[in-house]
Amino acid sequence: MKELKYRWLEPAWEQLQAQRERLPHALLIYGPPHIGKRELAEHFAQSLLCETPAGGGHPCGTCNACRWFGDGNHPDYRAVLPEILQPADAEAGGETAESGEGATGSKSKAPSKEIKIEQIRSLDTFFGIGTHRGGAKVVMLYPADALNQASGNALLKTLEEPSAGTVFLLVSSRLDHLLPTIKSRTAKFAVAPPSPAQALAWLQEQGVRDPEMALAEAGGAPLAALRKGEDESAAEMRTMLIDALTSARALDPISTAEKCDKAGAELLTLWLTQWVADLILHRNSGKVRYYPQQIKSIEKLAAAADLPGLFRLYRSLLAARRMAGHPLNVRLVAEDLLIDYARVIHS
Ligand SMILES: [Zn+2]
Repeated sequence: MKELKYRWLEPAWEQLQAQRERLPHALLIYGPPHIGKRELAEHFAQSLLCETPAGGGHPCGTCNACRWFGDGNHPDYRAVLPEILQPADAEAGGETAESGEGATGSKSKAPSKEIKIEQIRSLDTFFGIGTHRGGAKVVMLYPADALNQASGNALLKTLEEPSAGTVFLLVSSRLDHLLPTIKSRTAKFAVAPPSPAQALAWLQEQGVRDPEMALAEAGGAPLAALRKGEDESAAEMRTMLIDALTSARALDPISTAEKCDKAGAELLTLWLTQWVADLILHRNSGKVRYYPQQIKSIEKLAAAADLPGLFRLYRSLLAARRMAGHPLNVRLVAEDLLIDYARVIHS
């Protein structure tokens, strides 16, 4: 069985279960920011699609539907997010490094913070085909307040002519930013924040050093408090990694990988990819993009490095980034990459 990600959501979960038999066509899940509303909506979506729901209505976590959902490709589920919240493209740094484009090179425009009308229109195709498993279709919109006038109106049409078996889950912490017509066509579902004691206990379990301070600074929102704590320790780890990469002494891949372990595969491979991209970029054009403060070290390292080796390493890093969302042994991956790095740099 897959459990709720945050246990303070239990009461909300039970209320959702109570509505399950007569589920409204569209639910507006709302409450203060950073308390896990999106996780609740996703858990509920998964449970609606699960083929063999477990006790308490939780998704089983093991059926085909749950596996597809977990991999982000269930055919009867759509998560509609503004571009800025869509999973990052691991290849983004790739072009820069290989085409040798400098820091001044053309950069694509900033990702949109709005849910666009095309995203809502593209749901028509989704509704047009029958369900793959003969069950429900679920659409989650997060955050629903990212709908603009045009996309909001387009959604309204869909809400007015609901296709059978479709459930909309709109998630928002800013009800005042939603079109009144949308609010009136959805059933409101309030999610309460955890009590301060619950939030503190949870932050402590997550290893946040000063949970009271973090929670106060985050205005009582536990997920924001956690992110703050993580940001600080991530910054420390990044500095440590860059120190190790630029040190005059030979790099020790084993101990460096061990020290960076907690950063996780996603961050670690990101930092390394950007670092190697900068080495290649500097070698080709004398510029850097990600680590301008280290340009002196990069210059020295890039000049001595084996260029084909750097490209090879860059490709392994991109491959590692594609795998970074999967559960893997961060330390082993980091060790391999750093051993490779040490070889290329000191060739
Ligand atoms: Zn399941």
